[in-house]
Parts: sequence; structure tokens; C-alpha cells
Amino acid sequence: MSSRNRNMDDADRRDRTPERGPVTNPQPAAGRWFDAHLHVDLYPEQEREPLLSEAFSGGTAGVVAVSMHLESSRLNQTLAGRFPGRVLPAYGFHPEQPLPDDASIQELLRWIRVRFASGERLAIGEVGLPYYTRTEAEAAGKPFAQEPYIALLEKFVRLASDMQLPIVLHAVYEDADTTLDLLERHHVRKAHFHWFKGSPDTIERMIAAGYYISITPDVLYEEEIQQLVKQYPLELMMTETDGPWPFEGPFAGERTEPLMVRHVAGKIAELKGIPEDAAEWRLYRNAASFYGFSTEG
Ligand SMILES: [Zn+2]
Repeated sequence: MSSRNRNMDDADRRDRTPERGPVTNPQPAAGRWFDAHLHVDLYPEQEREPLLSEAFSGGTAGVVAVSMHLESSRLNQTLAGRFPGRVLPAYGFHPEQPLPDDASIQELLRWIRVRFASGERLAIGEVGLPYYTRTEAEAAGKPFAQEPYIALLEKFVRLASDMQLPIVLHAVYEDADTTLDLLERHHVRKAHFHWFKGSPDTIERMIAAGYYISITPDVLYEEEIQQLVKQYPLELMMTETDGPWPFEGPFAGERTEPLMVRHVAGKIAELKGIPEDAAEWRLYRNAASFYGFSTEG
């Protein structure tokens, strides 16, 4: 263990257990990093639980397991039940796919409400707008109707607002502005734009609203993401992998795993010009408090 690691563990103990006295009986460290956006259900079935176990034994404190649709939400609910306090499920409908019919949407919304009413800890997501599907269709000269996607997103925004739950958003560039309009209309306080990209004006709007972003492993090699990290306050930032999405640069050919966020945290520290321990600690606190993870060992 490096001295940097020892320092971090000492900081952990001080912050988490100030009332517990001397370090003769410290709480075990819960981990140092969060993967605030993981599609664990998209890994092959036999890989899911080992992936999570290895992540937690390797120092990941927790993951947010985001969903694609109802079936994916059910899978993530089951996985979350196997790792209590470590896997927070987020339920929703990912926007980069064809829209479901009305009955399916109602079934998903009802299912989420039942989960919430039963006292289950959860977030809303992944929801948002289909930037990549839309721009690909437009580039190919095909018509694309964005309005039904906006209407569906508004249903999830209203749900998050009613239940006062964190909402996980897939909304980049001009779609982020459309999403910001909806969040403002429904007075949503806890919004997390994962893998965010956008104009300086949009960035300013998001910072003013106190909304969070999360940074993926491409920060190690993408200039656009590096610039974003420099501009966005560390206090509103988290780390994520969006796994199993594959990355390039130093991660080319590797399976994406939650522990890759350690490299993201390291790069954020470098870009912010602060010690790695300090960046890690801030990123840890951000995700823990935003998603309500316990920081006790
Ligand atoms: Zn995602």
C-alpha cells in the first residue's frame, strides 16, 4: 500500500468515525470510489455478480445500477438486493431506443411507484433524450420525431419531482437545454447529467442550478472532456464508467469495470491541479451524498 493510500485511509477514519475514538478499532474502509453510472445488467449474466464483488473488494464504495427499461429495472432490483447498501438501482427508460407503447410506459411508471411506496431505495434513470439516434437519423436525411421523447422524459421528471428522488439523465448538447427546461418546470433539485457534453452557456446554466455531472474514463484521452473538467466545479462532479461501454486510449481492448473510476479520479485531480487524495475524497463525498449511500464502513 502506498503512502498515498495510507493517508487516504486515515482521512477516511477521521471523517467517518470521529466519535468512535482511537484507531485501535477502526471501521473497515467502505471504499474510495463510486461508479455513479453502470449498466451492470448489460454484462453477460455470469459476469454480473463477480464484476460487482471484485469492484467492491477492490475499493469501489458503491455503484448506481441504471436501467434501460422495465425488464432491465427488474434485473437491477434483484442485483441491488444481493449487494445491499452497495448497489443503488435506478429505474427508467433509456432514450436511445425506439419508444414503447403507452401501456408499457404506464406499466413501468406504476412499477416504479410500487417500488418507491414499498420503501425501496432507488433513483430514476436512465432517462433523457435520444441525441445520437436523432442526429444519426437527421444526418441520413430521415425525419425524426423528438416530441414523443420529450413527453416521456417529462413523465419521469415529474415522477422524480413527486418522489424527490435523484434523476439520472442522458442529455447532451442542445438536448441538455431542453432537459433543463423540464427540470426547472418541475422544480427538480437532484439531477445528474451522466457523460455530459455541452456548450459553455449550457454548462453555466447547469452550474447555476446546482446539477451534477459525471466523468467517464475517456477523460484520459478526450480533450473535450478534459476542458469540461477544468470548467465544472469539483463540488458538482462524480465518476462513472457507463460500463460495459468500451473505452479507447489506455483502456483499448479492456473490459470496462467499475474500478476504472480510480483512473478518472486521478485525471480529475491532475486537471484541477490538486492532490489526488483531495480529489478522490471530494468525488467520494459528492456521490455518497447525492445518492444517499452510507459512508459508514
Ligand atoms: Zn448509460
